[in-house]
Amino acid sequence: MANATICDDCQKEIIVSVKDYEYPAHQLKGYVIETYFRCPHCNKKYSVIVTDKRARKMQKEIKQFHLQIMKNDYSGLTEEEYKAKIDAQYEVMDGMKQELKVWTDKLKAQVQEIAQ
Ligand SMILES: [Zn+2]
Repeated sequence: MANATICDDCQKEIIVSVKDYEYPAHQLKGYVIETYFRCPHCNKKYSVIVTDKRARKMQKEIKQFHLQIMKNDYSGLTEEEYKAKIDAQYEVMDGMKQELKVWTDKLKAQVQEIAQ
């Protein structure tokens, strides 16, 4: 992942280079990994996503569910049935994504309380 953004703090350009940091288990349970990048000019940290074991499992399940949607056999369905089935499946997937987001936002709030 290489893209550029502007730092909120110093207004200079950042070439984004993400890194992973795994929090020691005695600090946070669940093998928490923070994906982040820093501004090379002022060192401000930008957290991209924070996951733990449960979040990574949810990510995997979402990916598998999506693959399943693409792989399913939709032959023999009417146009309407087909659309209804697709909509229903994407609704389930959106729900899974929403659940994941709530969870990872909670983790992000947790790691922000820990100084690195
Ligand atoms: Zn900066």
